[in-house]
Amino acid sequence: MRNLVVQKFGGTSVADTDKIMNVAKSVIREKELGNDVVVVVSAMGHTTDYLMKMAHEITQTPSSREIDMLLSTGEGVSIALLAMALQAQGYDAVSMNAMQIGIITENIHNKARIINIKTDKLNKYLEDGKIVVVAGFQGVTEDGEITTLGRGGSDTSAVAVASALKAMRCDIYTDVDGVYTTDPRIVPKASKMEYVTYDEMLELASLGANVLHPRAVETAKLFDMPVRVRSSFNLEDYGTLIMGENKMELCKPVTGVALDMSQVRLVVCDVLDEPGIASKIFTTLSDENISVDTIIQSYARLHNNTNDIAFTISKTDLPRAMELLGKIKHKIDVDKIIIDEDIAKVSIVGAGMIDSPGVASKMFNTFAELNINIKMISTSEIKISCLIGKADANASVKALCEKFDLESDVVAVVNGDLPNV
Ligand code: ADP
Ligand code: ASP
Ligand code: MG
Repeated sequence: MRNLVVQKFGGTSVADTDKIMNVAKSVIREKELGNDVVVVVSAMGHTTDYLMKMAHEITQTPSSREIDMLLSTGEGVSIALLAMALQAQGYDAVSMNAMQIGIITENIHNKARIINIKTDKLNKYLEDGKIVVVAGFQGVTEDGEITTLGRGGSDTSAVAVASALKAMRCDIYTDVDGVYTTDPRIVPKASKMEYVTYDEMLELASLGANVLHPRAVETAKLFDMPVRVRSSFNLEDYGTLIMGENKMELCKPVTGVALDMSQVRLVVCDVLDEPGIASKIFTTLSDENISVDTIIQSYARLHNNTNDIAFTISKTDLPRAMELLGKIKHKIDVDKIIIDEDIAKVSIVGAGMIDSPGVASKMFNTFAELNINIKMISTSEIKISCLIGKADANASVKALCEKFDLESDVVAVVNGDLPNV
């Protein structure tokens, strides 16, 4: 282990030049503690959204390669400005993009996974005493093609860089002062967790708690990298530590509630009840990197030997998924695919759930008391997810927090406006 800390600052933390100067102070503070520092930054404020909007003003179907060329410019701006801010304070800093470092990814645009990070140049700069400012979110293929890791992917860049460099820890600085039992913008009385296990955080993040990119948690778990989620605006607060299970006691069956509003449900109706149908549908989608989430197959209708297969995917994958499903005409009838966009996925998560009977019934009772209809249910060892209508999302998250005792009187510190959910 070396005295190296990787810090990551998200979009809101670098939204304008004053905020970048503020980030420089946090970096300098860490450096003055005697640590080597690598800083990973996202694009400024809503830059990535803005770039996406411009692309869609030009064409509704921009190519995935050009999207990556475009979006990767956002992080290029913030690394250069932060390096300048550090230099202006008298510190030796250097900015580097993914291509310069060699953050090698697979050859997939828009959601590439990191394969390898070259550490020679990073180490050389660190040995020279420099603070290295790294562009998050971007990667490069072995052939020199620019890729991006998927929205929110700078968290993953940071944890991957920390793991490659064998850092002491990776600090994710953001606009909230830690990981809460649920999104504090929805439940202001949500309580902050001091610790959370990798597995619980992985479920929370995968189920929509966008405070951390799920693949960042996966990477942290793989390399046993301690991650702190903490506020950019309150450096005295150590935030939430994410770490391995053996280091902590599990006392509550449910530790968090997550909400994901970004999915759509597809119901493929009247497919023949015979071997190979599900395989055909889901292979067609996975071959094009479309992830499928909750899947339910209904009982076969005996009179005509058919059933229905319902599943959820990300809203952004919908046009492509419909195009692909249209190509397996001989197996399914696209006119019989129902698209349900009124989907909110509400999930409860907790490693302590395994040994606590009655958690599922308590969750379903909460929905019943609010007269909320559950459209689909899925479970794993440490989570239960229910799909409900969007209009009921906020009320159910609040009610679940109350039911599972996840509230506190500590009011969450969140910068920015409430999301429009
Ligand atoms: P950044 O730009 O720093 O990457 P993000 O917007 O991606 O920040 O993530 C921070 C946001 O995550 C918070 O403002 C908060 O609204 C949201 N969030 C969702 N679920 C949680 C949770 N369980 N705990 C804390 N924040 C959460
Ligand atoms: N700038 C990218 C995004 O907005 C990556 C990130 O912020 O993590 O998704
Ligand atoms: Mg983020």
